[in-house]
Amino acid sequence: MVYCSNASDYNGIRQGAAGPAEVDYHQGISRDCPNSPSLQKQGKTMHEFGIAYDIFMTARKAAQDHHADSVTKVSVAIGEVSMVNPEQVEFLFGTLAEDDPVLKGAVLDYTVVPPETRCICGYEGAEKFVCPRCGALPELVRGREIMVTNIEIEVHEP
Ligand SMILES: [Zn+2]
Repeated sequence: MVYCSNASDYNGIRQGAAGPAEVDYHQGISRDCPNSPSLQKQGKTMHEFGIAYDIFMTARKAAQDHHADSVTKVSVAIGEVSMVNPEQVEFLFGTLAEDDPVLKGAVLDYTVVPPETRCICGYEGAEKFVCPRCGALPELVRGREIMVTNIEIEVHEP
């Protein structure tokens, strides 16, 4: 399994004494990563499965780290140009979560992140292929990433 992830930008956890808690999680799952040629070689479904699996493992680890009894919701930001079918990731995540005692019933809540581009001429916008100002190829600064942004867990009192 190729795990192409950045160092996590982990914002900690907000929770009361007991009950639902939210983990602010900003963990890159899969980005435009030159070190993962095997990911590209795999079939389309394998690609989505790998991503669903990484999201599942990230949530599982967060639950473990915070001694959670269950995970209720996992929020994910999926870049519009990440070449990933979010519905398929949602479905595959569901099948993985179902067999796990902690993640059973967890909902995958995804947001599709629109692309953001920048051109050497100073243009900033959403045009991916041709800069509307100078005709050059703009650089994609956002929209290809897949991030776990938030994990909601239940922690019961000991
Ligand atoms: Zn330009």
